[in-house]
Amino acid sequence: MKQLEPTTRDHYQFHCDVIASTRFRQNDPEFQNRLNALGAELSTLFIQYAENFATNDLTTTLPRVTTNIEKADLISLYKFDRKLIQELKKEITTTATGRIISTCQNCTINSANTFDHILPKEVYSEFSVNPLNLFPTCSECNSYKNSQWQNAGIPYFLNLYLNNLPTVQYLFVDLNFNGNNVTTNFRLEPHISIAPQLWQIINSHYTRLHLLRRFVSEVDRVIPKLVAQIKASLAHSNLNYTEIQQIVISQINEQKLSYGENFWEAILGLTLINHPDFLAFVNAN
Ligand SMILES: [Zn+2]
Repeated sequence: MKQLEPTTRDHYQFHCDVIASTRFRQNDPEFQNRLNALGAELSTLFIQYAENFATNDLTTTLPRVTTNIEKADLISLYKFDRKLIQELKKEITTTATGRIISTCQNCTINSANTFDHILPKEVYSEFSVNPLNLFPTCSECNSYKNSQWQNAGIPYFLNLYLNNLPTVQYLFVDLNFNGNNVTTNFRLEPHISIAPQLWQIINSHYTRLHLLRRFVSEVDRVIPKLVAQIKASLAHSNLNYTEIQQIVISQINEQKLSYGENFWEAILGLTLINHPDFLAFVNAN
């Protein structure tokens, strides 16, 4: 997983633009007027949100007292396929070099096909289309997250706009080779340089999103491809196994630039290629 840059757009203006872009509702002609009437109050709340965001203190944000009608109106502003929301996703997932990385950074397994509301919209409907409150994610991560998000001021999930991720390895995989089979077991291991509170959030993020189990169920994305690459290199190049290992390691280190130091595919690939039993496993396959 890797941090993303939040948008630099005017956050409250984005909310207003979404309201302005909604279609007139014949059966509810007052819809836009009701939302516009909240304007002054919401603009203050957006400023408070931005201040708490700037100090990474979102758990101190109190939800607005909102009527059921207001809540339904505000939540209805968020639709993933809305043009402005799609533009926002494109902006956030485009790298400084113009490359679009649409992988969900919460899991680095699926594509981001929705937005997570960092403060859940069921509780904080006023931030349903606050771009600082929207993080691109996959629907699987989003469904595990539901409206639980913090306890006693400590978030349950990493906020990948705000949390500085460790640059040391904390994700490991144990391999058990048996002929042409290998079993994998991912685990987290703390490192002395990771602050206790950040470690608590990392643990909770991986546990609540079921990441270690989900990585195991995806290992076939990595292992057969790596085996085939090594077999082809051994058969069709003049390189010896040590030289092939070095090439694979440098390719995997490239992947880490896009998906982070603890990208599960990179951790798995490096653990395989450095394992003393891996060559025998390649030859058995
Ligand atoms: Zn995900």
